[in-house]
Amino acid sequence: MMDDTTQKDIAAMLHAVGLRHTHSRAAVLHVLIKAHGALTQEQIAQHIDKKSPDKVTIYRTLEAFAAAGLVHRAYLQHRSWHYELAHRCSDVQCHPHFFCSNCGLARCLHDTQMPLVRGLEKGYVVQRQQVRLEGLCPACNRALHENGKESKDAAG
Ligand SMILES: [Zn+2]
Ligand SMILES: [Zn+2]
Ligand SMILES: [Zn+2]
Repeated sequence: MMDDTTQKDIAAMLHAVGLRHTHSRAAVLHVLIKAHGALTQEQIAQHIDKKSPDKVTIYRTLEAFAAAGLVHRAYLQHRSWHYELAHRCSDVQCHPHFFCSNCGLARCLHDTQMPLVRGLEKGYVVQRQQVRLEGLCPACNRALHENGKESKDAAG
């Protein structure tokens, strides 16, 4: 369920970029506001309960949001774009994203900052800087260490 604050936020966000308030726009925006990370079109559809708009509508909604600067494509994973709110990102730069190479978990690293790369030769124009960190999430890291201990115990 949408609480009053979220509904007001959604209305204000749509109004600020001059987009008309529709059921599907509000539904998609709601999912993105509540999300802990970037989501694919399909994941967004899954998050919207019963009255979910069809794929085409969700796609068009995301395109409209992207054009308005409300949402942006954060990264491409498994051939799908993952969308997120763009309010913390500029056109050129998004926060870094962390990917667990074991379970595939993706995290937005909102509190980290990366300087824009400098020292490019003359003539090159950066249109987008994307930082992708790969490693192990805490759960996988823990599991790996526990397994390692067990096999050592068994051997010894
Ligand atoms: Zn971003
Ligand atoms: Zn993991
Ligand atoms: Zn992100």
